[in-house]
Amino acid sequence: MHNTTKLITNHIFCHLMLIPAFMYGAWWMFLAAFMWWQVIAIIAISGGYHRYYSHKTYKCSRWYQVLMNALGIFAGAGPALTWAAVHKQHHAYSDKELDPHSFHHKGWFAVYVNTWGYDVKIKRKFIKTLWRDDVLNWFYKYYFKLNIAIIVLFTAIDPLLMVFGYAMPVLLAFHGYGILNILGHRNGPSNSAIANVLTAGEGWHANHHAKPGSYEIGHKWWQFDPTKLYIRTFFKREKGELNAAKV
Ligand SMILES: [Zn+2]
Ligand SMILES: [Zn+2]
Repeated sequence: MHNTTKLITNHIFCHLMLIPAFMYGAWWMFLAAFMWWQVIAIIAISGGYHRYYSHKTYKCSRWYQVLMNALGIFAGAGPALTWAAVHKQHHAYSDKELDPHSFHHKGWFAVYVNTWGYDVKIKRKFIKTLWRDDVLNWFYKYYFKLNIAIIVLFTAIDPLLMVFGYAMPVLLAFHGYGILNILGHRNGPSNSAIANVLTAGEGWHANHHAKPGSYEIGHKWWQFDPTKLYIRTFFKREKGELNAAKV
């Protein structure tokens, strides 16, 4: 099965889990799933796949890289290896034909629901350095097996743990980044407070395209960016504050 088909199958599965979520879940479980998603978004997707692997804006240890990749499984967005390669190409060709997920070329529905991945061709130069990283490679190789292992393990502990600990964060990631891919490029790179709600500070997308080498995406004090605050608190930044643009 094609990897994109596997991702879409998982997204359909996680949407179906809304039925047991509403039938058997309590309000605090939805709140806990949202908080859990914030942790995943800050560490793994916005802070990991994006600001670390795609742009290398700060330094971190090998074990922390393993943590980023492991938490990334709970976002259902595929392994960091391919995510970062696609994202590098997105910056190089944003809103042009070669942009892998430009809704101007592939249609907003295909981009929102991730079917754009079927025909994506990533240039070698964007994957070359990522490919040499053994942590990225390990998680790429076992990505779907790890997803299945988490689903089976969590279900065995408690089916509701699987629904709220795995399926709900996958759904929040799916819709959060789906909205970002549309609103963040509605008129070229664009800032969007709406797209910021589920993406831990990634909504200020015009800022990011202007300064892709900076770990800061919320530039103004009122542009909420929890991932920026987290990186600033715990890590040594590679490029300093709002430094020169770099892909
Ligand atoms: Zn963009
Ligand atoms: Zn980026």
